[in-house]
Amino acid sequence: SLSLRDVHLAFGSHQVLRGVDLDVARGGTACVIGPSGSGKSTLLRTVNRLLEPDRGDVLLDGRSVLRDDPDALRQRIGMVFQQFNLFPHMSVERNITLPLRRIRKLGEDEAVARARAELDRVGLAAKADARPAHLSGGQQQRVAIARALAMQPQVMLFDEATSALDPELVKGVLALMAELSTQGMTMVVVTHEMGFAREVADTVAFMDAGVVLEAGEPAAIFESARHPRLRRFLSQVL
Ligand code: ATP
Ligand code: MG
Repeated sequence: SLSLRDVHLAFGSHQVLRGVDLDVARGGTACVIGPSGSGKSTLLRTVNRLLEPDRGDVLLDGRSVLRDDPDALRQRIGMVFQQFNLFPHMSVERNITLPLRRIRKLGEDEAVARARAELDRVGLAAKADARPAHLSGGQQQRVAIARALAMQPQVMLFDEATSALDPELVKGVLALMAELSTQGMTMVVVTHEMGFAREVADTVAFMDAGVVLEAGEPAAIFESARHPRLRRFLSQVL
Protein backbone atom coordinates (compact mmCIF):
# COMPACT_ATOMS: atom_id res chain seq x y z
CA SER A 1 0.00 0.00 0.00
CA LEU A 2 0.97 3.61 -0.50
CA SER A 3 0.05 6.38 1.94
CA LEU A 4 0.71 10.07 2.03
CA ARG A 5 0.37 11.54 5.49
CA ASP A 6 0.03 15.28 6.01
CA VAL A 7 2.52 16.07 3.24
CA HIS A 8 3.59 19.71 3.09
CA LEU A 9 5.83 21.26 0.46
CA ALA A 10 6.67 24.85 -0.40
CA PHE A 11 8.65 26.40 -3.23
CA GLY A 12 10.17 29.35 -1.40
CA SER A 13 7.26 31.13 0.23
CA HIS A 14 4.71 29.44 -2.05
CA GLN A 15 2.96 26.68 -0.10
CA VAL A 16 2.02 24.17 -2.79
CA LEU A 17 1.15 21.11 -0.69
CA ARG A 18 -0.62 21.97 2.55
CA GLY A 19 -1.20 18.65 4.23
CA VAL A 20 -1.97 16.00 1.62
CA ASP A 21 -3.42 12.68 2.79
CA LEU A 22 -3.95 9.85 0.33
CA ASP A 23 -4.22 6.07 0.65
CA VAL A 24 -3.85 3.55 -2.14
CA ALA A 25 -4.28 -0.11 -1.27
CA ARG A 26 -1.79 -2.60 -2.65
CA GLY A 27 -2.98 -3.39 -6.15
CA GLY A 28 -5.32 -0.40 -6.06
CA THR A 29 -5.61 2.52 -8.44
CA ALA A 30 -6.06 6.09 -7.24
CA CYS A 31 -6.93 8.78 -9.73
CA VAL A 32 -6.02 12.33 -8.77
CA ILE A 33 -8.12 15.04 -10.37
CA GLY A 34 -8.27 18.76 -9.80
CA PRO A 35 -7.63 22.18 -11.30
CA SER A 36 -4.36 23.30 -12.87
CA GLY A 37 -1.87 24.43 -10.24
CA SER A 38 -3.54 22.54 -7.38
CA GLY A 39 -0.37 20.50 -6.77
CA LYS A 40 -1.06 17.19 -8.52
CA SER A 41 2.34 16.87 -10.22
CA THR A 42 4.08 18.06 -7.08
CA LEU A 43 2.27 15.37 -5.09
CA LEU A 44 3.43 12.64 -7.49
CA ARG A 45 6.99 13.91 -7.33
CA THR A 46 7.07 13.63 -3.56
CA VAL A 47 6.18 9.93 -3.86
CA ASN A 48 9.38 9.00 -5.72
CA ARG A 49 11.39 11.78 -4.07
CA LEU A 50 12.00 13.93 -7.09
CA LEU A 51 10.88 16.42 -4.42
CA GLU A 52 11.31 16.19 -0.65
CA PRO A 53 8.38 17.14 1.55
CA ASP A 54 8.98 19.77 4.22
CA ARG A 55 6.71 17.92 6.60
CA GLY A 56 4.69 14.72 6.64
CA ASP A 57 5.51 11.28 5.36
CA VAL A 58 5.12 8.96 2.39
CA LEU A 59 4.75 5.29 3.33
CA LEU A 60 5.24 2.35 1.00
CA ASP A 61 3.98 -0.86 2.63
CA GLY A 62 4.15 0.91 5.96
CA ARG A 63 7.75 2.05 5.61
CA SER A 64 8.76 5.67 5.06
CA VAL A 65 10.26 6.24 1.62
CA LEU A 66 12.13 9.18 3.12
CA ARG A 67 14.50 6.70 4.74
CA ASP A 68 15.21 4.85 1.51
CA ASP A 69 18.05 5.56 -0.83
CA PRO A 70 16.40 7.70 -3.56
CA ASP A 71 17.95 5.69 -6.41
CA ALA A 72 16.79 2.39 -4.92
CA LEU A 73 13.35 3.91 -4.37
CA ARG A 74 13.05 5.01 -8.00
CA GLN A 75 13.66 1.44 -9.05
CA ARG A 76 10.58 0.44 -7.09
CA ILE A 77 8.41 3.30 -8.30
CA GLY A 78 7.94 3.79 -12.02
CA MET A 79 6.84 7.13 -13.44
CA VAL A 80 5.30 8.02 -16.77
CA PHE A 81 5.11 11.64 -17.89
CA GLN A 82 3.11 13.61 -20.40
CA GLN A 83 6.25 13.83 -22.55
CA PHE A 84 7.62 10.38 -23.17
CA ASN A 85 11.30 11.23 -22.61
CA LEU A 86 12.56 8.46 -24.89
CA PHE A 87 16.11 8.67 -26.21
CA PRO A 88 15.61 9.66 -29.88
CA HIS A 89 18.89 8.26 -31.19
CA MET A 90 18.30 4.74 -29.86
CA SER A 91 16.02 1.94 -30.95
CA VAL A 92 12.88 1.25 -28.95
CA GLU A 93 14.45 -1.91 -27.57
CA ARG A 94 17.62 -0.11 -26.55
CA ASN A 95 15.55 2.52 -24.75
CA ILE A 96 14.30 -0.29 -22.53
CA THR A 97 17.48 -2.33 -22.15
CA LEU A 98 19.71 0.63 -21.28
CA PRO A 99 18.25 1.32 -17.81
CA LEU A 100 18.01 -2.41 -17.16
CA ARG A 101 21.71 -2.76 -17.85
CA ARG A 102 22.89 0.46 -16.20
CA ILE A 103 20.61 0.54 -13.16
CA ARG A 104 19.50 -3.06 -12.69
CA LYS A 105 22.89 -4.39 -13.82
CA LEU A 106 21.31 -7.07 -15.99
CA GLY A 107 23.36 -8.81 -18.66
CA GLU A 108 22.60 -8.05 -22.30
CA ASP A 109 20.66 -11.26 -22.99
CA GLU A 110 18.47 -10.93 -19.93
CA ALA A 111 17.84 -7.23 -20.61
CA VAL A 112 16.87 -7.94 -24.23
CA ALA A 113 14.58 -10.79 -23.17
CA ARG A 114 12.84 -8.59 -20.64
CA ALA A 115 12.53 -5.68 -23.09
CA ARG A 116 10.94 -7.96 -25.68
CA ALA A 117 8.53 -9.38 -23.13
CA GLU A 118 7.43 -5.87 -22.09
CA LEU A 119 7.12 -4.69 -25.70
CA ASP A 120 4.96 -7.71 -26.37
CA ARG A 121 2.82 -6.84 -23.35
CA VAL A 122 2.16 -3.33 -24.71
CA GLY A 123 1.55 -4.65 -28.22
CA LEU A 124 4.72 -3.29 -29.82
CA ALA A 125 6.91 -6.36 -30.30
CA ALA A 126 7.17 -5.52 -34.00
CA LYS A 127 8.66 -2.07 -33.26
CA ALA A 128 11.69 -3.20 -31.24
CA ASP A 129 14.19 -1.99 -33.84
CA ALA A 130 12.42 1.25 -34.76
CA ARG A 131 13.52 4.70 -33.64
CA PRO A 132 11.00 6.51 -31.41
CA ALA A 133 10.46 9.20 -34.06
CA HIS A 134 9.01 6.57 -36.39
CA LEU A 135 6.28 5.71 -33.89
CA SER A 136 3.02 7.49 -33.21
CA GLY A 137 2.70 9.43 -29.95
CA GLY A 138 0.51 6.68 -28.54
CA GLN A 139 3.07 4.04 -29.45
CA GLN A 140 5.86 6.14 -27.93
CA GLN A 141 3.92 6.44 -24.71
CA ARG A 142 3.37 2.68 -24.65
CA VAL A 143 7.15 2.24 -25.04
CA ALA A 144 7.67 4.62 -22.10
CA ILE A 145 5.24 2.49 -20.07
CA ALA A 146 7.02 -0.70 -21.15
CA ARG A 147 10.34 0.84 -20.11
CA ALA A 148 8.96 1.62 -16.66
CA LEU A 149 7.38 -1.84 -16.32
CA ALA A 150 10.62 -3.57 -17.31
CA MET A 151 12.10 -2.30 -14.04
CA GLN A 152 9.40 -4.38 -12.28
CA PRO A 153 8.18 -1.55 -10.04
CA GLN A 154 5.87 -1.97 -7.06
CA VAL A 155 4.03 1.23 -7.89
CA MET A 156 3.43 3.15 -11.11
CA LEU A 157 2.83 6.91 -11.20
CA PHE A 158 1.24 8.52 -14.25
CA ASP A 159 1.27 12.29 -14.71
CA GLU A 160 -1.22 13.18 -17.43
CA ALA A 161 0.17 10.39 -19.55
CA THR A 162 -2.36 10.98 -22.34
CA SER A 163 -2.55 14.79 -22.33
CA ALA A 164 -0.01 15.27 -25.13
CA LEU A 165 -1.58 12.68 -27.42
CA ASP A 166 -3.79 13.21 -30.43
CA PRO A 167 -7.36 12.33 -29.44
CA GLU A 168 -7.48 9.16 -31.52
CA LEU A 169 -4.39 7.82 -29.74
CA VAL A 170 -5.63 8.40 -26.20
CA LYS A 171 -7.85 5.32 -26.05
CA GLY A 172 -5.07 2.80 -26.67
CA VAL A 173 -2.90 4.19 -23.88
CA LEU A 174 -5.83 4.38 -21.45
CA ALA A 175 -6.72 0.78 -22.32
CA LEU A 176 -3.18 -0.29 -21.48
CA MET A 177 -3.33 1.57 -18.17
CA ALA A 178 -6.69 -0.01 -17.38
CA GLU A 179 -5.24 -3.44 -18.10
CA LEU A 180 -2.31 -2.78 -15.77
CA SER A 181 -4.75 -1.76 -13.08
CA THR A 182 -6.76 -4.97 -13.59
CA GLN A 183 -3.56 -7.00 -13.38
CA GLY A 184 -3.00 -5.65 -9.88
CA MET A 185 -0.42 -2.90 -10.33
CA THR A 186 -0.60 -0.27 -7.60
CA MET A 187 -1.08 3.01 -9.46
CA VAL A 188 -1.51 6.73 -8.85
CA VAL A 189 -2.88 8.36 -11.97
CA VAL A 190 -3.12 12.13 -12.38
CA THR A 191 -5.59 12.57 -15.19
CA HIS A 192 -8.16 14.76 -16.89
CA GLU A 193 -9.85 11.64 -18.26
CA MET A 194 -12.93 11.48 -16.06
CA GLY A 195 -14.24 8.38 -17.87
CA PHE A 196 -11.06 6.53 -16.98
CA ALA A 197 -11.26 7.69 -13.36
CA ARG A 198 -14.88 6.59 -13.10
CA GLU A 199 -14.27 3.15 -14.60
CA VAL A 200 -10.80 2.20 -13.41
CA ALA A 201 -10.11 3.94 -10.09
CA ASP A 202 -10.78 2.41 -6.71
CA THR A 203 -10.33 5.86 -5.22
CA VAL A 204 -10.73 9.27 -6.82
CA ALA A 205 -8.99 12.12 -4.99
CA PHE A 206 -9.89 15.71 -5.76
CA MET A 207 -7.03 18.14 -5.15
CA ASP A 208 -7.61 21.79 -4.65
CA ALA A 209 -5.08 24.38 -3.46
CA GLY A 210 -2.62 21.83 -2.10
CA VAL A 211 -4.92 19.47 -0.24
CA VAL A 212 -7.05 16.45 -1.08
CA LEU A 213 -10.36 18.13 -0.50
CA GLU A 214 -12.46 15.04 -1.05
CA ALA A 215 -11.65 11.40 -1.84
CA GLY A 216 -13.80 8.33 -2.27
CA GLU A 217 -15.08 5.70 -4.62
CA PRO A 218 -15.80 6.97 -8.12
CA ALA A 219 -19.57 6.80 -7.66
CA ALA A 220 -19.38 8.90 -4.49
CA ILE A 221 -17.18 11.49 -6.17
CA PHE A 222 -18.97 11.74 -9.51
CA GLU A 223 -22.56 11.29 -8.38
CA SER A 224 -22.71 12.67 -4.87
CA ALA A 225 -19.80 15.02 -4.32
CA ARG A 226 -20.14 16.77 -1.00
CA HIS A 227 -17.84 19.72 -1.47
CA PRO A 228 -19.10 22.68 -3.54
CA ARG A 229 -15.66 23.21 -5.06
CA LEU A 230 -15.61 19.62 -6.34
CA ARG A 231 -19.15 19.97 -7.69
CA ARG A 232 -18.12 23.14 -9.51
CA PHE A 233 -14.99 21.45 -10.92
CA LEU A 234 -17.03 18.50 -12.16
CA SER A 235 -19.62 20.74 -13.77
CA GLN A 236 -16.78 22.33 -15.75
CA VAL A 237 -15.09 19.13 -16.91
CA LEU A 238 -17.93 16.65 -17.41
P1 ATP B 1 -1.45 21.10 -13.92
O1 ATP B 1 -2.82 20.48 -13.91
O2 ATP B 1 -1.41 22.38 -14.67
O3 ATP B 1 -0.36 20.14 -14.32
P2 ATP B 1 -0.69 20.67 -11.13
O4 ATP B 1 -1.88 20.41 -10.29
O5 ATP B 1 0.11 19.49 -11.58
O6 ATP B 1 -1.15 21.54 -12.39
P3 ATP B 1 1.79 21.56 -9.97
O7 ATP B 1 2.62 21.39 -11.18
O8 ATP B 1 1.96 20.56 -8.89
O9 ATP B 1 0.25 21.68 -10.33
O10 ATP B 1 2.09 23.00 -9.42
C1 ATP B 1 1.48 23.52 -8.25
C2 ATP B 1 2.00 24.91 -7.99
O11 ATP B 1 3.38 24.84 -7.70
C3 ATP B 1 1.87 25.85 -9.17
O12 ATP B 1 1.50 27.12 -8.68
C4 ATP B 1 3.27 25.89 -9.77
O13 ATP B 1 3.52 27.12 -10.38
C5 ATP B 1 4.13 25.69 -8.54
N1 ATP B 1 5.38 24.99 -8.88
C6 ATP B 1 5.50 23.74 -9.41
N2 ATP B 1 6.78 23.38 -9.54
C7 ATP B 1 7.52 24.43 -9.11
C8 ATP B 1 8.94 24.68 -8.99
N3 ATP B 1 9.84 23.76 -9.34
N4 ATP B 1 9.32 25.88 -8.48
C9 ATP B 1 8.40 26.81 -8.10
N5 ATP B 1 7.07 26.62 -8.18
C10 ATP B 1 6.62 25.46 -8.67
MG1 MG C 1 0.69 18.74 -13.41
